[in-house]
Amino acid sequence: MPIMTVAEDRALGQGVVDMKGGIVCALTALQLLHKKGFLDSLDLTVLHESDEEVGNPSSRALITQLAPEADLVLVFEEAGKDQEIVIGRRGIVVIRVECRGVAGHAGNVSGNRRNAIEELAFKIAHLREIAYSLTDKGILFNVGTITGGTVHNVIAERASCEINLRFSEDEGLQLLRDAFDRAVATPTIPGTNTTIDWNFGAGSPAMPVSQQNQVAAKLFIDTCALQGYSVSTQVRGGTSAANLWAQEGVAVIDGLGPIGGDDHSEREWMSIPSLFVRIQQVAFFLQQIARGAASAPLEALRKPADV
Ligand SMILES: [Zn+2]
Repeated sequence: MPIMTVAEDRALGQGVVDMKGGIVCALTALQLLHKKGFLDSLDLTVLHESDEEVGNPSSRALITQLAPEADLVLVFEEAGKDQEIVIGRRGIVVIRVECRGVAGHAGNVSGNRRNAIEELAFKIAHLREIAYSLTDKGILFNVGTITGGTVHNVIAERASCEINLRFSEDEGLQLLRDAFDRAVATPTIPGTNTTIDWNFGAGSPAMPVSQQNQVAAKLFIDTCALQGYSVSTQVRGGTSAANLWAQEGVAVIDGLGPIGGDDHSEREWMSIPSLFVRIQQVAFFLQQIARGAASAPLEALRKPADV
């Protein structure tokens, strides 16, 4: 399979938009600024990180180290379908729910039948109901795996599942945690026991639609308007490195890459015209910053500790 092919106005191939398109956009914008002589007046750092989709195990420390120096972070994940920029993202918590029952013969007619799989089925239904009642708090719920039991004629002693939870604000996550902990404290089938491991998988903090992200987005949108482009904002369910920058208290504009889709598949595509549009927008935005035209709003983004 070729690395990339071009069909009409689309580039096709795995990785064209997630993340090559964004990287090309950032580097080409900087090249343009260099040609125009603006690059030297910009105090900027370019960070390429390779482990965002697995919880940033190696780049997390680097982000924490660079964050105090940053007034604004631009993240080049792919844009929205109408080339929106991203000003908020949900965070992720991965939990494992484990039920313990008591093994026994499936034909046993006397006493308690303490089947862990059956208890887990009750618990999943209950947890799902709780999560869906918190949809307006930004909660998303997905049971991703389930496992349990040994053979069909034995009462299952153990069963567990892994659940991926998304949240838009810490408040919603706390409500969910409290309700989940209460829900598992009482068994539906007497004699079974259920626990939740809240630190099961690599999670990510939420990137709330903060005041500073809105200020930064307005700065970008107003600059694009000077070029005749109308840009709007969106909030996403997935995470990116932007979540970590936001957690450090830095203003973030994400989704600064081109438009594309079918990520992580052989059908992955990127809109070539959108790449050129974004390069122009980003280059002009940085040029305005280099000229000092955006210094007042940028000043407002500066954290008190920097002053
Ligand atoms: Zn990806």
